[in-house]
Amino acid sequence: MTLEANKTEIKTLNIDELKQALTDMGEKPFRAKQIFKWLHLPVSSFEEMSDQSKALRQRLEDKFTLTVPHIERKQVSKLDGTIKYLWRMQGGDCVESVLMRYEHGNTICVSTQVGCRMGCKFCASGLFGLKRNLSAGEILDQVLFAQKDSGLKISNIVLMGTGEPLDNYDNVLKFLHLVSSSDGICIGQRHISLSTSGLADKIEKLAQEKLQITLSISLHAPDNESREKIMPVTRSFPVERLIKACRYYFDTTGRRISYEYAMSRNISDRPWQAKQLAKLLHGRPCHVNLIPLNPVKESDVQPSTKEAVRKFQQILTQNGITATVRRRLGPDIDAACGQLRRRTIEEGESK
Ligand code: SAH
Ligand code: SF4
Repeated sequence: MTLEANKTEIKTLNIDELKQALTDMGEKPFRAKQIFKWLHLPVSSFEEMSDQSKALRQRLEDKFTLTVPHIERKQVSKLDGTIKYLWRMQGGDCVESVLMRYEHGNTICVSTQVGCRMGCKFCASGLFGLKRNLSAGEILDQVLFAQKDSGLKISNIVLMGTGEPLDNYDNVLKFLHLVSSSDGICIGQRHISLSTSGLADKIEKLAQEKLQITLSISLHAPDNESREKIMPVTRSFPVERLIKACRYYFDTTGRRISYEYAMSRNISDRPWQAKQLAKLLHGRPCHVNLIPLNPVKESDVQPSTKEAVRKFQQILTQNGITATVRRRLGPDIDAACGQLRRRTIEEGESK
């Protein structure tokens, strides 16, 4: 089923745009708030908007498309309750989200693209390249429908699923405004983290938006030579260029940056690299998350040993950088990004 041409996806509209669209249709603008509420509930058809007239529901149906993702697969971890969704979007593409249950609130990890073109060597999401960007509504749908299906109130969002959020800049920005809108599910920007592989120019652009979100940088290595081996994006934006953009981001927004560092054996886990990392990050408040690398079958990048992780953390701490080792949630359900979609593609269920 392909999205119908000439129709606007209604969930990509903010309140003002919805008001304008209704006015253009000769409808009362006050309807916008009511309809917006229904969309974010979320409803699965215009028919369900029971306080709107039958005629208006029909007119909406004629003019707009309503995206409704279908649950293709769902896995629930027996160990910690993590839920992994594989959604089939209208048009047939599959994307995944992971709902994690932390003490500080339920957190959903959403995808921003179908695939990814950044090609990081350790990542299952990049294996098949980029198929397409998700719309703002399709990113939002993952939050809305996971909340509806699970019955769990979602209070935090991380943009850490499949895709490079800053490679889909406009739709992601729109999503951030929609999901934090007081007329919708109103998740505060301080409860949202955006993770990027380091598109320095877009980080500087994002700084100008003056959002309250947390920016998370997937650094994974402190020197260009090692980083290039695992993250080709380093060729476009070398480490020094990236750190310059991060400093600008902090200086403009006042928001502390968080650095993701997946420990790869003999590539990024050597003591001199811990020292180099500390030097690189010196001078601005930050936090480093050391992540045990999730081995991906197709990749020869291997996880570091526990001992190497511990030593790395110790060197960072001694050099004044706060670093925590992140716990893996849902280890029994392949909760690392891209893994469920990859398996489905391999089995020939998705193109
Ligand atoms: N494209 C963005 C966000 C999605 S990836 C980015 O790269 O930041 C989300 C996070 O998962 C990134 O920090 C990424 O480096 C990490 N990641 C991907 N594959 C991984 C793996 N096999 N093991 C551990 N972390 C991984
Ligand atoms: Fe894309 Fe992020 Fe995976 Fe790299 S780690 S391939 S940027 S999703």
